[in-house]
Amino acid sequence: MPSTYITTTIPYVNARPHLGFALELVQADVLARYRRSIGEDVRFQAGTDDNSLKNVLAAEAAGVGVQEFVDASAAAFTGLARPLSLSVDDVIRTSSDPRHAAGVERLRRACAASGDLYRKHYEGLYCVGCEQFYTAAELEGGRCPDHGTVPERVSEENWFFRLSRYAGQLRALIADGAIRVEPAGRRNEVLGLIDGGLEDFSASRSTERARGWGIPVPGDPGQVIYVWWDALGNYLTAPEYAVGGENLSRWWTGAARRIHLLGKGVLRFHAVYWPAMLLSAGEALPTDIVVHGYLTENGRKISKSSGATVDPHDLAGHYGVDAVRWWLLREVARGADADFTVDRLVSRANDELANGFGNLVNRVVTMIHRYRGGRVPAATATPPAAAALGQAITDAPGQVAGALEDFDFRRGTEAV
Ligand SMILES: [Zn+2]
Repeated sequence: MPSTYITTTIPYVNARPHLGFALELVQADVLARYRRSIGEDVRFQAGTDDNSLKNVLAAEAAGVGVQEFVDASAAAFTGLARPLSLSVDDVIRTSSDPRHAAGVERLRRACAASGDLYRKHYEGLYCVGCEQFYTAAELEGGRCPDHGTVPERVSEENWFFRLSRYAGQLRALIADGAIRVEPAGRRNEVLGLIDGGLEDFSASRSTERARGWGIPVPGDPGQVIYVWWDALGNYLTAPEYAVGGENLSRWWTGAARRIHLLGKGVLRFHAVYWPAMLLSAGEALPTDIVVHGYLTENGRKISKSSGATVDPHDLAGHYGVDAVRWWLLREVARGADADFTVDRLVSRANDELANGFGNLVNRVVTMIHRYRGGRVPAATATPPAAAALGQAITDAPGQVAGALEDFDFRRGTEAV
């Protein structure tokens, strides 16, 4: 039986989960449920990214210890499984799961053995909100394009990963579809990034700047593994890369598909940095990188910092999980941004779930009882209208399958 490994990104837990992340979870869940239904051996993997500096700062602001803070915050994310009806198989938390640090250390050793890690003095502009360096040209008026904050100037010696070495290999893998990036516009974006030149990136930071939080670089106590390096590693550490046993071969090395779902803002990390790290370590690569857009709410950007966002937990509690899942799948075009309003959710739920599916089922059952003694009769000669309906019913499963193979959830709902 072919096995399929499906992952969501692991969010920072410095704020409550928002509806945009619920979109990714629900998409992954639909893929997982569908692929199980056609007989595949599926693992739906999720987790939380606990080791970022943002979490340290948020804990300080809240006046609690970092581990205590991330434990409480992570619960808000892992606690989405029930209200969103997610068939998640495993959750890894990067600060506390024993599989993780040991796996990250093995990954680092493997890359070091390939000669891809070296020390270098570095100066750059760092946005803590993004947990990444920016060049002056990437800033808008000297500020982070995402957060609008002035990045801090960082000057220190770090470990660097030799990304530049893998540019040609990565380009070929993505151009020929060995790593499939969907939608195609995102694949072109990645090819553009590679063609623009890949620079080696920082794979650690000083323990001082990390405030002592994170996974120490083995043999170098002054450095902590850079949070992106550590976070990307979760896809491999969760199936027990540290041990290298049956779980690793079932869910990674020997899996027929390794599918990552992610938002457009972290494309570079998943489609460039991560495959390069795997090439360096000599491990199997993701087969599919599926990129979704961002949600706005009432036309406004969802901002974790503003706090004024729709809580998916509350939304499911109030309108029901079917209404929330249906809206996310039904109205968000493949890979595109979408605007959420409660009115749209309610009208989709009323028009399509209640008046459409609900009413259909109700009337059919009632008529079978009233006119056919409660038994579904054998099919007889079919009038033309029924023939069209019969054809639609026959065609729907194939259309759903095709839509989901294209990661087009909206087209899947249209077939239904
Ligand atoms: Zn930023």
